[in-house]
Amino acid sequence: MKKIMLLGASGSIGQQSIDVIFHHSDQFELVGFSVGYQIDKAIDILSRFDIKIACVIKKEDAQVLALKFPQVKIVYGDQGLIQCASYQDYDTLVNALVGFSGLHPTVYAIKNHKEIALANKETLVVGGEYISFLAKENNVSIVPIDSEHSAIFQCLLGYNKKQVKRLYITASGGAFRNLKYEQLANVTASQALQHPNWKMGDKITIDSATMVNKGFEIMEASWLFGIDIDNITPLLHPASIVHSMVEYEDGAVLAQLGSVDMRLAIQFALTYPNRYPVINSDSLDFSKAMDIHFEPMDYNRFKLLSLCIDMAKKKGLYPCVLNGANEVANLAFRENKISYYQLENIIIETCNNNPFINEKVNLQSIDKADKWAREYATSLIK
Ligand code: NAD
Ligand code: MG
Repeated sequence: MKKIMLLGASGSIGQQSIDVIFHHSDQFELVGFSVGYQIDKAIDILSRFDIKIACVIKKEDAQVLALKFPQVKIVYGDQGLIQCASYQDYDTLVNALVGFSGLHPTVYAIKNHKEIALANKETLVVGGEYISFLAKENNVSIVPIDSEHSAIFQCLLGYNKKQVKRLYITASGGAFRNLKYEQLANVTASQALQHPNWKMGDKITIDSATMVNKGFEIMEASWLFGIDIDNITPLLHPASIVHSMVEYEDGAVLAQLGSVDMRLAIQFALTYPNRYPVINSDSLDFSKAMDIHFEPMDYNRFKLLSLCIDMAKKKGLYPCVLNGANEVANLAFRENKISYYQLENIIIETCNNNPFINEKVNLQSIDKADKWAREYATSLIK
């Protein structure tokens, strides 16, 4: 039995993780979880599983749950997430939080010597250097849940990582993939939230439309697999059938294909190298003609992808500043406070004014850079 701590249980990845854990109750035991403000989801989970610790954002919600479930330790806020990550009796942290909020719990779980199944890519964007060092120091493995990284992880199993020549990260292209740059002037958040292939949380769906998500995934892959940014190529692949590819020194290109269902990646992160059925998941249908089409990325069209790659190469606190600005601009765009072009400009300008040029990357400097980027980006909105 693998004991699981699931942070972000009320979200898109969180709910699909619950599904995986529920359908394989012979293998997994959910011992703790966090939700945000959705107390109904917390009650649902507390009623279905034998939970030891649960976290919500608000103190008042924690008090309500504590009265209803007196046998469970109920915690709250950022400190509550850290209490969950630091809880002794579990094996794997599934980090399905969104944004910067995922960083500190990952740090505490690594220090607690727990395996990390990572959906929260922002952890590696803002703190890749620090997290990689910490994981190595504590002999902790970080297994990807992000579908592209799960694909690469699967294509690397059994081979010599030193003989990898290139990683290809596929991109569906998001909601605006068929629009020219000039056509982005008046696009809205509600249009951006209509993702053609995947049903995900709002923040990542906007990041897919702006291509920041793919930029983040390049950074994520670089840290997870120890591959130079120059040797990671994003490719437009509208069908989302090939989840990503690895090219080896001999020219062989290995790919993982599958239907559009995150539960495969979530489950494999918890069961590898074993594979079990994903309940109610569609197989790819090879009895019909299938269009597996790839296109190189147009970096003039996807300006923020280009920016992400530049920041990734600059390293240090640049990616953290980029992430902070992106979180602010992404939310302002969702709230219809800024246009698509403003979103781009706010992120670019914040990165251009990054004052943390030669600062060493550690948890304190990451927090400081994140705070600065948020304030700076917010000032550009006002
Ligand atoms: P989501 O918005 O659906 O869920 C996020 C979860 O985090 C919720 O439970 C929410 O309550 C919680 N949360 C958010 N801010 C919090 C805070 N400050 N404190 C405590 N809890 C907080 O997001 P999602 O789509 O499930 O994505 C989660 C992560 O997985 C993201 O990093 C995303 O990039 C990554 N990811 C998601 C998908 C997908 O299919 N949804 C695919 C690949 C990677
Ligand atoms: Mg992905």
